[in-house]
Amino acid sequence: TEPVLSVRNLRVAFAGRRGTLTAIDDVSFDIARGEILGVVGESGAGKSVTGSAVIGLIDPPGGIVGGQILLKGERIDTLSPDAMRRIRGRRIGMIFQDPLTSLNPLYRVGRQIVETVRTHTDLSEKAARQRAIDLLAEVGIPAPERRIDGYPHEFSGGMRQRVVIALALAAEPELIIADEPTTALDVSVQAQIIALLKRLGTERGTSVMLVTHDMGVIAEAADRVAVMYSGRIAEIGPVRDVVQNPLHPYAKGLMGAIPTLAQETDRLAQIPGSMPRLSNIPQGCAFHPRCPSAFARCLVERPDPIPVGAHRVACHLYDRSEASAA
Ligand code: SF4
Ligand code: MG
Repeated sequence: TEPVLSVRNLRVAFAGRRGTLTAIDDVSFDIARGEILGVVGESGAGKSVTGSAVIGLIDPPGGIVGGQILLKGERIDTLSPDAMRRIRGRRIGMIFQDPLTSLNPLYRVGRQIVETVRTHTDLSEKAARQRAIDLLAEVGIPAPERRIDGYPHEFSGGMRQRVVIALALAAEPELIIADEPTTALDVSVQAQIIALLKRLGTERGTSVMLVTHDMGVIAEAADRVAVMYSGRIAEIGPVRDVVQNPLHPYAKGLMGAIPTLAQETDRLAQIPGSMPRLSNIPQGCAFHPRCPSAFARCLVERPDPIPVGAHRVACHLYDRSEASAA
């Protein structure tokens, strides 16, 4: 069946003083109905920019300069700002790290949900209020018929993030972009929010693009994972495969940073250096200065993703012609 979201050869660039900086370079992935795709990488890898591109929120001087973004087979990257605004909220929901970016502190939370419900449906005020109570109950807010009249500051951080999820669900979107939704929360609350996101997929069929730097969150929540490095996907595949058997040298380093494998957390530290700046992306494979397996070809030729079992890996080590030549 047709994917809910299809990103094809996406390129995003920012006009800078010294020329154009490419932030996303030829990124492709699909998200199926009810699926959680984790997008992981260090800061600067391009995860959030990819999410912003999908929801049409890349601010000038940045912009999409290549590729396509399709929602249920229809291009959305070419829509007008007005048409895109209607898609956001209605067909694509958003959850950010700080719930207060989505909630107006001056309004009772129920008011905000009721307004969203009424914008996207023809329910009466009374029916919309009942829908809001049901949504708050669904996301695990206790005593929702009372809490609906509370203000955002009257909720704890975890409860506030649940309210944001209820708000995102109010329009029954097909896709939710969640950017570091659990990063500001305690570990126990994180687990509850992850469980809630997973339930959206199984019970509502909502697809989620989950952007995070936290490989532990990905391992818990995602069905598939895309590991990003320097504006490209280094490896993508089913989460179990990629976590247990990462193929790309960068993904191997990243998997060592999963908290549940605490005894191996220094593995990432064995990869010296840091993510390159956009203005200074190395030739060839952008990871080559940090890669313990780099060889001559890596310095001059950029690897494109190639299928390896259930994974797609952008690394010359997995090029069969390379293997036979070696
Ligand atoms: Fe390392 Fe080369 Fe693979 Fe890049 S292409 S990850 S430098 S081995
Ligand atoms: Mg980010």
